[in-house]
Amino acid sequence: MAYGPLRTHFTSRKRITIDAGLCVGCKLCMRCCPLGKVIGYDADARRAYVDDALVCGGCGACLRICPANAVHMEEELVKGALSPRMVLVIAPGQHRATP
Ligand code: SF4
Ligand code: SF4
Repeated sequence: MAYGPLRTHFTSRKRITIDAGLCVGCKLCMRCCPLGKVIGYDADARRAYVDDALVCGGCGACLRICPANAVHMEEELVKGALSPRMVLVIAPGQHRATP
């Protein structure tokens, strides 16, 4: 099978972080998220946590609704190749491959 030349492109992607020290466990962020899978809840610690940051669409609803200012948004540079189906996420101290 023949492949054309790989074309590399850069883009940015937003993702959230949750400061467990500030979170008061109200779950408002989970309830307002339109994607539903991004934020989890630790019942023992009574704190929200980021379950799957790669699913986050970056809409910012959880930031705006959080009463404790515990949700923060990071923007990371993403280097992607159109083929094969893999993106390399470049962030300080992190390297992650996604399907
Ligand atoms: S930024 Fe939007 S999509 Fe991402 S976790 Fe918050 S509410 Fe969900
Ligand atoms: S909205 Fe803020 S305080 Fe409430 S669970 Fe989410 S991160 Fe914690």
